[in-house]
Amino acid sequence: MRRCKTCVETDTRPTTDFDEHGVCLPCRSVSLTSVEAIDWDERNAILKEIIVWGKAHSGPSGYDCIIGVSGGKDSTRQALYAREIGLNPLLVSCVYPPEQQTKRGAANLANLIELGFDTIVVAPAPQISKKLMRNCFKSLGNLFNASELALYASLPITAIAYNIPLILLGENPGLSFGTDVGSRDYNGNKMKNMNTLQGGDPRRFATDEMEDNQLYWYRYPSDDAMERADLRIVYLGYFMSDFNDHTNARIAIEHGLQVRMGEDAKPENIGGLATEVALDDDFVIVNQMLKYMKFGFGKCTQEVGVAVRNHLMSREEGLELIRRYDGKCHPKYIKALTDYLEMSEDEFWEIAEHYRGVEFFDRDDAGVWHLKEELYR
Ligand SMILES: [Zn+2]
Repeated sequence: MRRCKTCVETDTRPTTDFDEHGVCLPCRSVSLTSVEAIDWDERNAILKEIIVWGKAHSGPSGYDCIIGVSGGKDSTRQALYAREIGLNPLLVSCVYPPEQQTKRGAANLANLIELGFDTIVVAPAPQISKKLMRNCFKSLGNLFNASELALYASLPITAIAYNIPLILLGENPGLSFGTDVGSRDYNGNKMKNMNTLQGGDPRRFATDEMEDNQLYWYRYPSDDAMERADLRIVYLGYFMSDFNDHTNARIAIEHGLQVRMGEDAKPENIGGLATEVALDDDFVIVNQMLKYMKFGFGKCTQEVGVAVRNHLMSREEGLELIRRYDGKCHPKYIKALTDYLEMSEDEFWEIAEHYRGVEFFDRDDAGVWHLKEELYR
């Protein structure tokens, strides 16, 4: 494992893209955009064309576009912005099972709806959701493969059903994190091919006894069905000069967003610095810890990477924060998860350790694993 020479990204992120000088893709796109200032006139012209296209294709429902929302900072910002630029969006929220969704998450979704948006709530059956999560954890070491698929697949499914072909997403993860989504601009049509979504087929995440019809909301429509429906998936963040964590959080908070507070906001408990992320679910904190054990980087690395690229902290300061907080997860979140999955904590740790990337860690005399010293450079 190596870290980017300019920020702190690691090259263990699946489908990462470092150049021959050891610099990551997000750093390269930042330096590119700062050298040749972005042509906002050009982007505005493209956005105008997309707005006209959405309105022209709005179909009998009268909605111009679909926006997937959780009620968090980014989706609240997207919905407000879409309305600002004259679009009439239909919001689609694929919610976690009641045992998983936090009260704060439910309140934030209610808040967004109360801001005056028509919203469809998709709630896949908790029993299947739980089985899928247990299976993804055991077979892939990741809790969220299946639920992430439902989160994204529910958008084209609804778009086709309601004849609303324009789908707006937030930022292009290819530009912000270097994830391969088949595009480095505003085009999100290829996103189902990104690594964690497995081409949009849930079978890989399911157990043999699960019926196909139990996986409906987890299955992306086929390429044919998407083409026939003329779907157009667009990263709205590409057109907004201030679509970032800081501004999105500020605007969403001004519109009623509740953030993490108290013990649930301490970096040593949640493994990261931001208090306005993962608002609707605590299991994601456990998943970040699992990612850290597997690949040697967690939420804190990702946050510091963005901060260093935006000149909000030095690389050295960032590495110190990573040393202190990356991969941390309060035991109460693990307890909540194992209760939910009906799994003992021993079994949880056995599976988690099975996926540990032992090449990134040293074990001390007390049996505790530490990231190798040279990986803090
Ligand atoms: Zn970098």
